[in-house]
Amino acid sequence: MSRIILQDIKKSFKKTAVLHGIDLEIQDGSFTVLLGPSGCGKSTLLRIIAGLEKQDAGRLIIGNEDVSGLEPQDRDIAMVFQNYALYPHMNVRKNIEYGLKAKRVPKEERQQRIDSVVKLVQLEDQLDKLPAQMSGGQRQRVALARAIVKRPRAFLMDEPLSNLDAKLRSQMRVEIASLHKHLGTTFLYVTHDQVEAMSMGTHIVVLNGGSIMQQGTPREIYTNPQNLFVAQFIGSPP
Ligand code: ADP
Ligand code: MG
Repeated sequence: MSRIILQDIKKSFKKTAVLHGIDLEIQDGSFTVLLGPSGCGKSTLLRIIAGLEKQDAGRLIIGNEDVSGLEPQDRDIAMVFQNYALYPHMNVRKNIEYGLKAKRVPKEERQQRIDSVVKLVQLEDQLDKLPAQMSGGQRQRVALARAIVKRPRAFLMDEPLSNLDAKLRSQMRVEIASLHKHLGTTFLYVTHDQVEAMSMGTHIVVLNGGSIMQQGTPREIYTNPQNLFVAQFIGSPP
């Protein structure tokens, strides 16, 4: 069970409130998209779930466990960043393997997991390359492989495609959606792009100014926006 429950999560930086008490239940196995304009608090919320940032108030439950007091590496979730955050001096194999060594997965099992994940993201013939020798799309696949190989109970992705050109972006949308189908794990995917949200999400949460404006299936959000902000942001018919 890997649902994620947020109860009244609040966060301020200095005196500026960035999250105003977020209540949200992310269903086990869903592809939930957190959608909203730049600066609305998406990354902050994701970083709180990952444990990279501490909430000022509120509860955070993953599975059946309150994880608020746990370090990032003890939460059993993986994060994929916009800038890939690969180790520049390590080749692809070492980048993918690094997190497994940290988790003390035995060598033979590391090998098996790496073999299977590189097939999944089509990097079989790239294992000896350094990140600098690869294209943006390939680097993003390495970042995905590095997350998948850890077999986390949930994936958090923060605008992972925003550094790619339009053609590659639409191709990677399809690849990430099919990875979700294949793995069946909970994905929480942040974007400011409504087309991306609509085409990938099973569930969409619209955030603005640190509050949830609406949530539902893409169809519900599109056909029945509950306020002017959502209607305008999604571009629903009047
Ligand atoms: P989004 O990801 O939706 O663009 P963020 O969560 O990155 O939004 O930021 C929300 C707000 O919080 C912004 O106004 C941003 O400037 C502010 N903010 C984010 N992180 C910090 C930080 N570490 N210190 C101060 N302000 C921050
Ligand atoms: Mg952000």
